[in-house]
Amino acid sequence: MAKRKSKKSSRKTKSKAAKIRPKKISAFAPQDELKRELKISAIDEGTVIDHIPSDSTFKVAEILNLENHKGIVSIATNLQSKRIGKKGIVKVGGKSLTQEEVNKIAIVAPDATVNIIKNYYVKEKIKVKSPDVIDNVVKCSNPVCVTNNEKVNTRFYVVKKDPLKIKCHYCERGMGKEDIEII
Ligand SMILES: [Zn+2]
Repeated sequence: MAKRKSKKSSRKTKSKAAKIRPKKISAFAPQDELKRELKISAIDEGTVIDHIPSDSTFKVAEILNLENHKGIVSIATNLQSKRIGKKGIVKVGGKSLTQEEVNKIAIVAPDATVNIIKNYYVKEKIKVKSPDVIDNVVKCSNPVCVTNNEKVNTRFYVVKKDPLKIKCHYCERGMGKEDIEII
């Protein structure tokens, strides 16, 4: 977000009686609390999705519909990872994933690990598995494809896993990771 510097032209009064006081910058902000709020908090119960390729971090958030999640959601991206270069992490408080959601995540983040958190500890660690067939998850990018014009579920075959390449069962349109739009 662009910060707008608004510099009001200070009106100086010639009168000696009127002193110009510099404006104090919010003396109310309690520093400790502020620091605490800025840290990404651990979650006591829920799911942490780790090792997401940075450019897929927000796709994962979209898949899980986190915009409407009522619990804690923290999304971090562009973190250093020895394994995958730059990675993203998504933490979701009070949510466990369905198999369907895990399968969807595998499409955009084939190396992701899903950690199930109970009482602040990792209770289970699941490595996602890229599917061979993707049913009714991805929208076909071909506007004349039957799946975009009739009530037909989409179906794609995974041609290549990394980088992802998929092919529409109906119109044979090939799509890469950047074309993927989750239904
Ligand atoms: Zn198609």
